[in-house]
Amino acid sequence: MHEVGLLKGILATAEREAAGRQVALVRVRVGVVHRVTPEAMAMAFDGLRAGTALADARLEIDEVPIRSLCRTCGAVAEDVDPVLVCPTCGLADMVFAGGDELTLESIAYRDGAPPASATIDRPASSVASA
Ligand SMILES: [Zn+2]
Repeated sequence: MHEVGLLKGILATAEREAAGRQVALVRVRVGVVHRVTPEAMAMAFDGLRAGTALADARLEIDEVPIRSLCRTCGAVAEDVDPVLVCPTCGLADMVFAGGDELTLESIAYRDGAPPASATIDRPASSVASA
């Protein structure tokens, strides 16, 4: 279960950030190339959080797709796999970005303090429609 390895570093960071505060919610951005399933992430989280500041925390996964950009017409497609042929103009002139993220997005604490990072820099999704 590679989810344990993926989560370990993120949870260590979260615990450092928490600095002793009880964490209510941890939100993690995971790119689709990591091929995680929510169930496996939840199981890994359950195993790792015991005895830490995250013991009572909830885990939220924000899955990040791969963005495929057509260099010819500028269409953008977001999917779990790179889109090799442009769905708009039909040419194979694509460049790819994202999908490999693995970051701690935000933490919410029990005492009602605001999240450590309130900004969510999700790319504006403009999925090309054929
Ligand atoms: Zn195109």
